[in-house]
Amino acid sequence: MHIHEYQAKSLFRQFNIQTPVAVLINSTENASKACAELGGDVWVVKAQVHAGGRGKGGGVILCRSIEEVENACNKLFGSNLVTPQTDAKGLPINQLLIESGQSIERELYLGLLVDRQTQKITILASTEGGMDIEKVATETPDKIIKFGIDPLGALTEDDCTSIALKLNLKGNLANQFNTTLLGLYEIFITKDVSLIEINPLITTAENNLLALDGKIDFDDNALYRHEDIVEMRDTSQEDEKENEASEHQLNYISLDGTIGCMVNGAGLAMATMDLIEHHGGSPANFLDVGGGTTAERVAKAFELIQTEANVRGILVNIFGGIVRCDLIAQGILQAVEKVGLNLPIVVRLEGTNAPEGLTLLDQSSFDIHTEADLTQAAIKIVALSA
Ligand code: GDP
Ligand code: MN
Repeated sequence: MHIHEYQAKSLFRQFNIQTPVAVLINSTENASKACAELGGDVWVVKAQVHAGGRGKGGGVILCRSIEEVENACNKLFGSNLVTPQTDAKGLPINQLLIESGQSIERELYLGLLVDRQTQKITILASTEGGMDIEKVATETPDKIIKFGIDPLGALTEDDCTSIALKLNLKGNLANQFNTTLLGLYEIFITKDVSLIEINPLITTAENNLLALDGKIDFDDNALYRHEDIVEMRDTSQEDEKENEASEHQLNYISLDGTIGCMVNGAGLAMATMDLIEHHGGSPANFLDVGGGTTAERVAKAFELIQTEANVRGILVNIFGGIVRCDLIAQGILQAVEKVGLNLPIVVRLEGTNAPEGLTLLDQSSFDIHTEADLTQAAIKIVALSA
């Protein structure tokens, strides 16, 4: 699960990580009051969306008067922000963070993530923070400091001090860095985080270390024990279809291709998508209807697939282990009766009662192509949706 920058920063403050003062607003009306509350004469208006690269997408606007702040708010509110990390549609801007402007001396990068390769929590740090950190990582990877922490061990003050040294932070700034890194680590452990990031972590003219941005991703599997985190969820930033699917216990992810897939089991779904690609097609989605699926769930899955604009054909691939293929066939027929069928469809059934299932589909009045062999099914749907 993702959260907004303002929410990440509120967690930061709870763990003694310093941030600039800021006020969250949800309409331009509140802009001048927010500026007055913050004081000063430079403010930064920041779009709150679940994507990075906001600076590059025009979602971070530096303002030198209240009028400029109001203009920025009017421009951003109600629009969608497109950044290098979103799709072409972008994400809706419903909230803006007005932050007091900072005089930046240095922009650093600091993040923690689960590194599956080393099986450790890994700290990433760099003197080259800011909007081009991805470029730094690919073009000059030696400028990224990596430090692994044993998941059964702990992060020590000495570890922090050695990283501060590599970032050329001394004295007061080094002390602030230790507090910041220990705070990040504490959040990471206690909140079951998979990625936490400050980019940029700035040093200011006043010799302070501040988190100017904040990003946190949580492990969905652990959300059941973090009510406070679940409360921060903002579904306006999520894919509508994917949410609707998860309400029906369907594992659904939209993709760019043209062949809708309905499969039971995540591994089989992956193999099915690979086979479609192998035969020259491209999958429009990943969909796992689960092991013990019902007719209602099959119908919902159909509806989701058929209403995707880019879908030109549907491949159903069911391996009847726990479920019986004749029941699946009945489910498919019920679904087609309910939501209609306006696309070519190929159904491959294998396993328990597969012959009975295929017969049911063949005898129906609908134009459903059946196959017992997966490769043949993939070849057929690629041809039918070309
Ligand atoms: P991102 O593009 O989504 O990562 O958004 P950030 O919050 O990181 O902001 C992008 C950039 O805007 C930062 O790297 C800074 O260079 C700049 N920026 C943000 N806040 C301030 C500020 O208070 N003062 C100045 N001068 N620049 C800022
Ligand atoms: Mn950033």
